[in-house]
Amino acid sequence: MKSRIWLSSPHMGGNELSYIKEAFDTNWIAPLGPNVTGFEADLKQFLNTEKEVGALSSGTAAIHLGLILSGVVAGDEVICQSMTFSASANPILYQNAIPVFIDSEEETWNMCPVQLETAIKASIANGKKPKAIILVHLYGMPAKTDEIVAIANKYEIAIIEDAAEALGSTYKGKNCGTFGTYAALSFNGNKIITTSGGGAIVCNDEAAKNKAIFLATQARDEAVHYQHSEIGYNYRMSNIVAGIGRGQMEVLDKHISLRRDMNTFYKNIFKNVEGVTVFEEPTDDYFSNHWLSCITVDESKASFTREGLRLALWEENIESRPLWKPMHLQPIFEKYDYYGTNVCENLFNTGLCLPSGSNLTTQEKERITQVIAAFLA
Ligand SMILES: *Cc1c(COP(=O)(O)O)cnc(C)c1O
Repeated sequence: MKSRIWLSSPHMGGNELSYIKEAFDTNWIAPLGPNVTGFEADLKQFLNTEKEVGALSSGTAAIHLGLILSGVVAGDEVICQSMTFSASANPILYQNAIPVFIDSEEETWNMCPVQLETAIKASIANGKKPKAIILVHLYGMPAKTDEIVAIANKYEIAIIEDAAEALGSTYKGKNCGTFGTYAALSFNGNKIITTSGGGAIVCNDEAAKNKAIFLATQARDEAVHYQHSEIGYNYRMSNIVAGIGRGQMEVLDKHISLRRDMNTFYKNIFKNVEGVTVFEEPTDDYFSNHWLSCITVDESKASFTREGLRLALWEENIESRPLWKPMHLQPIFEKYDYYGTNVCENLFNTGLCLPSGSNLTTQEKERITQVIAAFLA
């Protein structure tokens, strides 16, 4: 059996272990310590922002805290892009709030500004303005951020930016993760950098960050005994995990450039293939980290099906997957409102994510090229 080629797998830089060793040598295993503070400072510097970054146990935790800090409580409506990973939407239900799902637009595959405004107006007409908008930059592609931010400002609704897949992506030269009232980053195993598992919340200022960290560390009031006047969570990142993050920050720029090379690799493979479009930035305003490279297959023009290609790759132990299945089609979310015109349904039916890791070897890329060439022939 040939070895598996993954969509996206961990890619260590080399210095991760020395940061972990330092934590062991100083017995700074827990709680917080220099690696957590250092990792947060590295992220803040990378994002080139005045905002403050707090390291957490996951990106999901960051979205959850973003909702809490935006005042989302039971019964509130929260708007979310439908085509995304379930972790964007699950925290809405953790708060017993009500998701309202929005279609994608065709250029960036992210939240459609037109459908967003329609949904907000409908909610207001029902006497209930949505409390927050969860904006995702899917596969690393920045959303139509100016349009969405303008609508959020017009109706005075907080944006929680889900930049879990978009560390290193920029919109009009500004980093994804710096546009929302709060933003979430993820360092899960399959992301552009990984800490094995982890995340971060980006907050507007020190006070907001302190509140997020307070909630993430069991909401302990100031007292010598343990006293609590709010519900807390155990969401903080450990000093060991943050050590991996510090090592990964040294290679983030390299990972971005290698992932972008993978996009070029697929553009070359599919250059003259009728019916196949490689997903890329619509204009120079958008810069994607191309966390995953994706294609869509127009089966009315192509000589093959999306499923046919997926299975041909799978037979050679090469992983590829359909795009995210929209949330409004998921059993847990299908009862909630959805505003759209089938853009994300079509993407789900025609799209395929291809192996995109920064650690793919020349031989692995050669295997991918040959399998696709043989399939197309
Ligand atoms: C990975 C991911 C998350 C969740 O991040 P975790 O760190 O795994 O909790 C949220 N949203 C999107 C779009 C993701 O891809």
